[in-house]
Amino acid sequence: MTEKDSRSTAEKLRLFRSLFSGLEHVYGTYDSASGRAYQVKEFVTDAVLLAHLKGKQPYGVYLLTGEVTRAVVADFDTEDLAPPLDVIAGARHYGISCYLESSKSRGYHVWSFADGNGVNAAKARAVFRHILCEIGLPKTEVFPKQDRIPTGSGSYGNFIHAPLFGGLVPRGRTVFLNVDDGSLRPYADQWAVLQNVELMSESLLDDLIEVNEIPVGMDPIPDKKTSLGVFLPLPGSLPPCARRMLSEGVTAYQRDSCFRLAVSLRKVGLPYDLAMATLLEWSQKNRPLEGKRIITRIEVQAQTAGAYLNQYQGCGCDHHAVQPFCDPVCTLFQKRESQAETASRPVNETDATAGKGLDK
Ligand code: SF4
Repeated sequence: MTEKDSRSTAEKLRLFRSLFSGLEHVYGTYDSASGRAYQVKEFVTDAVLLAHLKGKQPYGVYLLTGEVTRAVVADFDTEDLAPPLDVIAGARHYGISCYLESSKSRGYHVWSFADGNGVNAAKARAVFRHILCEIGLPKTEVFPKQDRIPTGSGSYGNFIHAPLFGGLVPRGRTVFLNVDDGSLRPYADQWAVLQNVELMSESLLDDLIEVNEIPVGMDPIPDKKTSLGVFLPLPGSLPPCARRMLSEGVTAYQRDSCFRLAVSLRKVGLPYDLAMATLLEWSQKNRPLEGKRIITRIEVQAQTAGAYLNQYQGCGCDHHAVQPFCDPVCTLFQKRESQAETASRPVNETDATAGKGLDK
C-alpha cells in the first residue's frame, strides 16, 4: 500500500479544507459540457469537496472572508511557463513559498497559503502586486481580487477553481507541478505536497511591507525604469570574473555564463527583477562565435530563475565559462593558490616548518 493510499478520506478532506477554504455558504462551479461558470448558494459541505475530488462536480473557492484570505493566487492564462516561474522565484526571494498548479484547461495558478486562520488580504495582495511589478508582470490577475468584502454588501467577491478536480487529475491538469527538481511534472503524491506546504505569516507580510515600503490598499504603478534594464549600484561587491563578464560580454557558453552571473548577483543581494534586467542588458554585449545567436530573453529568464530558486553558493571558479575571466587580484584566487601550494609542498618540508613553530 502506498503512502498515498494510507490516507483516509476524512484526512484528505480535512487537509483540502484547511487550504482551499473561504466563504462557507457559497461556492463556484462550472458546467463541464458548456464550460459555463456559476455560483451555488449552498454550504461547502464535505460532500461538495468530495464531489470535486472524485471528479463529479468542480468546486470553486471564494477565498475572501471579510478582510481575511487563506491563500493568494496569481492566475496565468497562457502555457508560457516563464511568468509563473518568475513569480515563484520572486516570492521565494522574499521568503514566501509558492506552488505551481496546472489550471483546468490551459495556463497555471501560483498558490501561496496563509498560516493560522488566514492573513489580511490587502497586505497579501499588496506584497504579491509588488512582486509582480518587480518582475514586469503588473497586470497579472491576483485572487482574491478585492482587499475586503464589506459587511452586508451582498457581494461574495470572485471564486477560483480549486486544484485536484478528480476528472482532470489523470490528464495532468489541476495538479501541482514539481518546480524544485526542474522537471515541472506533476508530483507523484499530491497529498504529500499539500501536507507539507510552507505557510505565509502575516508578520512576514508586515516586515516586507515595512522594509520595502509597499503601499497597501492600492495597486502600485510599476517603475518601468527599474524593471527594464537599468543597472543599479550593487549592494555588495562582485568577484572580478563576474565584473569582467558583465562589462565585456562573452563569446561562448552564454547560458552557463548567464547562470554563473545570476548566482553572483543573487549572492550580493540584487533583487531578482534587477538581476533579470542586468542580465538582459548584458546579453546584448555578447559576441557569439560561428554565427551563433545571442541568448534569448526566455533563456536569460530560465537561467536567472534557476539561480534564484536554488541556493548555489560556489563562484564556479573551475567552470569553463568562468575560467577565462579569472583574475589573480581576486582574494579567492590568492587563497586557492596558497592552499594549492601548501598541498603540493613535500611532507618533510611541512614537518620542518611545523617543528620550527613549536621551537619558538
Ligand atoms: S578566483 Fe577567479 S574565478 Fe574565482 S571568483 Fe576569483 S576571479 Fe572569479
